[in-house]
Amino acid sequence: MPIATINPANNRLIRVFDPLTEEATRQKISLADETFRANAHISIDHRALWMRKLAAILDDEADELAATITLEMGKPIHAARLEVQKCALTCRYYADNAARILAPEHIPTSEAHTSYVRYEPLGIILAIMPWNFPFWQVFRFLAPALMAGNVGLLKHASNVPECALTIESLVRRAGFPRGTFQTLLLGARHVEHVLADPRVGAVTLTGSEPAGRAVAAQAGWLIKKSVLELGGSDPFIVLPSADLDHAVQTAVRARCVNTGQSCIAAKRFLIHDSIYDAFTTRFVELMNQLRVGDPMREDTDLGPLATLQILEELEAQIEAATQSGARILTGGQRMAGAGNYFEPTVITSVPRTSPVYREEIFGPVAMLFRVRDLDEAIAIANDTPFGLAASAWTSDPTEQQRLIAEIQAGAVFINEMVASDPRLPFGGIKHSGYGRELAAAGMREFLNAKTIVIA
Ligand code: NAP
Repeated sequence: MPIATINPANNRLIRVFDPLTEEATRQKISLADETFRANAHISIDHRALWMRKLAAILDDEADELAATITLEMGKPIHAARLEVQKCALTCRYYADNAARILAPEHIPTSEAHTSYVRYEPLGIILAIMPWNFPFWQVFRFLAPALMAGNVGLLKHASNVPECALTIESLVRRAGFPRGTFQTLLLGARHVEHVLADPRVGAVTLTGSEPAGRAVAAQAGWLIKKSVLELGGSDPFIVLPSADLDHAVQTAVRARCVNTGQSCIAAKRFLIHDSIYDAFTTRFVELMNQLRVGDPMREDTDLGPLATLQILEELEAQIEAATQSGARILTGGQRMAGAGNYFEPTVITSVPRTSPVYREEIFGPVAMLFRVRDLDEAIAIANDTPFGLAASAWTSDPTEQQRLIAEIQAGAVFINEMVASDPRLPFGGIKHSGYGRELAAAGMREFLNAKTIVIA
């Protein structure tokens, strides 16, 4: 894939970027290495000052930054602005909380005079990131990593180079020394040389399962720490005691966030038999009311899909689903005209044998399933290779506790849609990956917990 900005609203090529040469890549790694050492004397308070400045720039320039995001990957502009603001919030969260999270942990033992754990940065962390939240995915790595004293190298997705370069420049403008956070404009196949460099200490990847497998295999062989945030096919379960109107409105938002291109978007809707018909009628109605169109307009709900390839993959998935017996209740087609627009779509009667039953669907396409009871809801929720998160709707405390305990996922949200929050750990199990981002758990992924004993 070329490294290029292509406007997904009309597929016009805006700019092509030259990838870094091997020599230029080596120089950036050297600069990162030198900067890591030089930064060692910088206090947490000082880093927090820069991190707060970074938050202020993000807030002040949210409109322009949002426009860059929307131009490159088609997210509706109001959502892009919220994304930038969430990055600012996360910078402030780590500026405020890093000292607490990084504080030495004293562990009294009867034999030693003093024993404690001291948290130290690992050095250069390589971050391989996707295009779907081109600022948020990067900042949720960047803010804890830089506050901990690590330095970052970003290999962003090839379709969001302008976002990648902008983020590097924002970090510099906030005051962080040159080399603390650098963008590497590289295609995916050049990443292995970067990871293989002995000066690179660890890697985090947010993206698809195949990319995760490739990077984790290499990291494992090199014995380097890795964190993987991969795909999801999150269930959204609605049981009879739920507030149906609230549930159905949230269901549409949860499916269509980022035009359906989110790992934690609800993708499979498991609805109790007794409310299935009422839910479905209302759900289809609300999906049909969504405004699809120019993502630069403030009143647009769904923009284009980020690339032509994603649009074609989605079409193929719908085609395979209908071939295997699924029924389309609404939508199901790409929209006429320029741009990667796809109709809001609802499908039902998806057989277990259909490939789409087990795949992640990236786009505004909801799969509805009728379930007879809680047992069946939990069984279908877990009948997936993924285990990122789940949203479940019931006002019955016993049902809530069973859902919390029995759903195989990194997060369960009761009577709420799944969303990331800098204060809460985020990550999955099964093929959704391993490790955590955000909160204290996210910051500790790339630290050496050094045990100290003084006799
Ligand atoms: P992708 O194709 O895996 O790309 C993600 C990143 O990995 C890009 O920078 C890509 O570079 C790079 N990459 C791809 N193959 C690679 C390889 N073999 N070695 C090294 N780097 C490689 O994923 P995507 O289509 O952009 O993103 C969508 C996926 O991300 C979905 O599955 C979604 O669920 C997942 N996601 C997960 C989370 C989470 O937190 N769990 C959050 C957001 C998205 P190029 O662009 O140059 O190919």
